[in-house]
Amino acid sequence: MIAQNLELIKLKITENTSLIAVSKTKPIESITEAYEAGQRIFGENKAQEMSAKHQALPNDIEWHMIGHLQSNKVKYIAPFVALIHSVDSLDLLKEINKQALKNNRIIPILLQFHIAEEESKFGLSLEESEVILSSADFSAMKNIEVCGVMGMATFSDRPEQIRKEFQNLKSIFSTIKNHFFMENLNFKEISMGMSGDFQIAIEEGSTMVRVGSSIFGGR
Ligand SMILES: *Cc1c(COP(=O)(O)O)cnc(C)c1O
Repeated sequence: MIAQNLELIKLKITENTSLIAVSKTKPIESITEAYEAGQRIFGENKAQEMSAKHQALPNDIEWHMIGHLQSNKVKYIAPFVALIHSVDSLDLLKEINKQALKNNRIIPILLQFHIAEEESKFGLSLEESEVILSSADFSAMKNIEVCGVMGMATFSDRPEQIRKEFQNLKSIFSTIKNHFFMENLNFKEISMGMSGDFQIAIEEGSTMVRVGSSIFGGR
């Protein structure tokens, strides 16, 4: 079932879009099934759960943190995490930089933006991100690499609303790219799109879709 679901999704995404298989709450057996079908990138939203799965599963898996991350949990994933999608404060950036330094590595991150109508979702505004990126604190961080932006659209049955929010994230990406990362080829990722809206996200320029329930079933 999982292998077939993966095949179906891959037919719907373009070649330059990465598929993050969101395996949060799912057991090792389900991840192994996806792994055996060729999937190598998995997304989790809890640091300890991700760390346990990392230890139990093959080493060539790329683990992406997609959920809200508390600073005191960064240490659990710093040795191995491939990309943190959900960075939305300077304090969190500082802690990631500190833990990356301890592990003698550079940790790639995305800045998470609030693009949805809903109040409850995490994320920065464009203005907040510009304050962070202009700060001396940010310039001093040598062990993080900002690779792009991430956002979640409103949970909605109005495709035009979702499309508008993804267009907004794309425009935030372009603004930040022009102001801060013009010469940096690694600033290129737009992580947007989940099971319910990844096709709209791809039409609007997503480079990474984060798909869970359409691969592994409901949670
Ligand atoms: C759970 C989650 C997803 C995947 O959601 P599905 O609707 O199951 O595809 C994507 N992104 C984030 C940030 C999530 O927390």
